[in-house]
Amino acid sequence: MALVVQKYGGTSVGTTDRIKNVAKRIIKTYDAGNDLIVVVSAMSGETNKLVALANEICDIPDGREYDVLVATGEQVTIGLLAMCLKSMGYKAKSYQGWQVPIITDSSCTKARIESIDDKNIRADLKEGTIVILAGFQGIDSANNVTTLGRGGSDTSAVAIAAALKADVCEIYTDVDGVYTTDPNVCKEARKMEKISYDEMLELASLGAKVLQIRSVEFAKKYNVDVHVRSSLNENTGTMVTREDKDMEGILVSGVAYDKNEAKIAVMGVLDKPGIAARILTALSDANISVDMIVQNVSSAGMTDFTFTVTKSDLKQAQIITNEVAKEIHAKEVVCDENISKISIVGLGMRSHAGVATRMFTALAQNGINIQMISTSEIKISVVIDEKYTELAVRLMHETFGLAG
Ligand code: ADP
Ligand code: ASP
Ligand code: MG
Repeated sequence: MALVVQKYGGTSVGTTDRIKNVAKRIIKTYDAGNDLIVVVSAMSGETNKLVALANEICDIPDGREYDVLVATGEQVTIGLLAMCLKSMGYKAKSYQGWQVPIITDSSCTKARIESIDDKNIRADLKEGTIVILAGFQGIDSANNVTTLGRGGSDTSAVAIAAALKADVCEIYTDVDGVYTTDPNVCKEARKMEKISYDEMLELASLGAKVLQIRSVEFAKKYNVDVHVRSSLNENTGTMVTREDKDMEGILVSGVAYDKNEAKIAVMGVLDKPGIAARILTALSDANISVDMIVQNVSSAGMTDFTFTVTKSDLKQAQIITNEVAKEIHAKEVVCDENISKISIVGLGMRSHAGVATRMFTALAQNGINIQMISTSEIKISVVIDEKYTELAVRLMHETFGLAG
């Protein structure tokens, strides 16, 4: 007998028929003698609808109330799934985050899980109850409902698997594993049998939304093997696991893209110590993360300072940057939402030179201009015009021979 955690994403629970299908899969695992905790997302499209409602009310919704609103999507699916299992004669019980409780910090809209109290869940499992848990949500120490950022149900699942030392953590989604790139963009994409935590961390942080980045951080920290697979077939998926010898030899293992960032350029600032810190501190005080940063070579003591933030943070980031720009007497602030970030990831980059050259040459030969570049030991990212996203992804896939 094993303790199994299964997470079903939005598409997998997108209709009542799909929920019935999920219930059948759950029963199969349960009848094989396993204890089962099931984490579910909202029905597909529902969280987007809730976010759109919030944006109809105001430009920058209050974080606490935004979380109260968007957490409701998951409440619908846990209710439906638990009642479905009960109607089929099984013991099941739904839990919202606060009922577990899953304790998070207080950063609304992107809270981090701090601890999970497993007492109630363990008691249920002991008496043979299937636990159905709302993903994406928790509660902070002041009893506010919190959410974990878009795609956060993955993190709920891996965190619960780590907290209860589950034997298996399965993430069921609408593709049957982690591919060399998004299979919905590049039909040559190939399913990987396994991928290291570090590569998956990079791919997730660079836009491959198949797993939320924090879920991979949890998996790595607590050594949880995560099996990404499809809820629509029985195929073996992809194991996200510790690095091994076979993985090191692969130069580039995946390509990711992210259309979710926007660029803010502060033009004509004095090139002197403290300017970058001032802009970035103001943003981090508002809990806004900055991703890529470029500062131009200065000319006549002046420079431009450019960075990217997520599109959902853009309005607020723009207001803050404009305020700081005034204080530091910058010439102007220019925003561009029509950008995308293309990245290649691979453990083999640690020990091979020339990867960037191949990437930049392929882009240049296809007339794609590079606006920003950032690198780490195992990835290279470039910002380009959004309209070239799909072309660039396919180009990178081909350039690095990923179709196999
Ligand atoms: P869920 O609702 O199950 O959480 P998501 O939509 O969040 O599913 O994630 C699955 C999607 O991730 C796929 O439909 C696919 O378009 C996208 N994706 C992006 N990059 C990859 C990749 N490298 N491998 C697999 N899927 C990817
Ligand atoms: N429902 C949430 C979202 O759409 C969480 C998730 O699906 O993982 O982002
Ligand atoms: Mg997801």
